[in-house]
Amino acid sequence: IRMVLIGPPGAGKGTQAPNLVEKFHACHLSTGDMLRSQIAKNTELGQEAKKIMDQGGLVSDEIMVNMIKDELTNNPACKNGFILDGFPRTIPQAEKLDQMLAERGTPLQRAVELQVDDDLLVARITGRLIHPASGRSYHKLFNPPKVDMVDDVTGEPLIQRSDDNADALKKRLAGYHAQTEPIVDFYKKTGIWSGVDASQPPATVWDEILKSLS
Ligand code: ADP
Ligand code: ADP
Ligand code: ADP
Repeated sequence: IRMVLIGPPGAGKGTQAPNLVEKFHACHLSTGDMLRSQIAKNTELGQEAKKIMDQGGLVSDEIMVNMIKDELTNNPACKNGFILDGFPRTIPQAEKLDQMLAERGTPLQRAVELQVDDDLLVARITGRLIHPASGRSYHKLFNPPKVDMVDDVTGEPLIQRSDDNADALKKRLAGYHAQTEPIVDFYKKTGIWSGVDASQPPATVWDEILKSLS
């Protein structure tokens, strides 16, 4: 499958993506995770991205599109398709993505929107725990790890993202509504959009994603 997951921070994109990867043997490309990994490796791209991310800005479209294109071309896990998460974030990014994918002959097939009201997202984001190396996420109350503060799979420590606080969330949500939500209409026009009520428990959300894709 070739699809994008759309939704505000905390909607459950990172939680549902592994289900999609397993079901469709596709790769999961989270641009936030990819940028944080570039920063951790202290690459040139990472150094440039860090400055922008620290100020709450958006990394340039050119960098983002090239990063995705590279991964689609070189990551063998992407040969059967891809799940994009965190990209596109703006209408111009959606247009550039379409152009890049058309050039490769691999157009998008689906855009699934995870819909959650803002007031539910504060609790999700402030309780979120992350395993940085894999991008796996847990929740202090809603999805606790088997052992306190360590990853179930690797036993490595979990962290809280520095931007996962109520204040930063407010800004990210405002940015989402202003810049990202308009891409929903963009994909409605091309006929590949479907919406899912993502305020329900994770297993129910997964059932509805599958239904919406069939
Ligand atoms: P996103 O990738 O969209 O920002 P995550 O998948 O990281 O969101 O989820 C944000 C937080 O909410 C995580 O701590 C996750 O465990 C939790 N979460 C995800 N889906 C649900 C759900 N359906 N119900 C309750 N909590 C959820
Ligand atoms: P299903 O489990 O849905 O019946 P298959 O096992 O028949 O799917 O595989 C479907 C496609 O995915 C095939 O092209 C296969 O080569 C590929 N594939 C299967 N497992 C994996 C995997 N773990 N990683 C990447 N591609 C895989
Ligand atoms: P969020 O949980 O707020 O959706 P992400 O983990 O997706 O955050 O992204 C973290 C940061 O990485 C963003 O605030 C932004 O600076 C940068 N970033 C991620 N994806 C993109 C993108 N598609 N375009 C530009 N910048 C991006």
